[in-house]
Amino acid sequence: MDVTKEKELREAEAMIEKNVLVTSIDKVLNWARGHSFWPVTFGLACCAIEMMAAGGPRYDISRFGYEVFRASPRQADVMIVAGTVTRKMAPLLRRIYDQMPEPKWVIAMGSCANAGGPFVDSYSMIPGVDKVVPVDVYIPGCPPRPESLIFGLLQLQQKVSNPAKVRLLKHGK
Ligand code: SF4
Repeated sequence: MDVTKEKELREAEAMIEKNVLVTSIDKVLNWARGHSFWPVTFGLACCAIEMMAAGGPRYDISRFGYEVFRASPRQADVMIVAGTVTRKMAPLLRRIYDQMPEPKWVIAMGSCANAGGPFVDSYSMIPGVDKVVPVDVYIPGCPPRPESLIFGLLQLQQKVSNPAKVRLLKHGK
């Protein structure tokens, strides 16, 4: 091979190394999903005020790509359960969840959604929203501050972007 051809070949190889990315479609989809959650507009009690604050200019969850709160569950992929879940509300919450397309995730925000909170002994309370829908991330606090919600969303991002890693952690490896 002459010197010119060899040089051209080396340049082509260098260009391919810089510009071609090889990965699986699953990895790309999971990466995109983890960086662009669309939460359903849905709040139940005081925790919802903190959720709204997280969407405002001070905390600004749009920095992470999560600000598109959708008015229709059919356009949303995350349900943030922010507040007390009563027995009367549970079937409606489940209906909203069922109307969301797959794949979808649920964040339980605050003590009430996690386990009934200060009202757990009340006849009207569900002791945790995981009795109604499957929960992916639990955020403790009464109420959790917007920073906690942002941390929870970033945890969900990790879970969605690296499903294999989460499976390993789940099994204690
Ligand atoms: S966890 Fe506390 S702040 Fe949140 S809904 Fe329950 S009582 Fe209100």
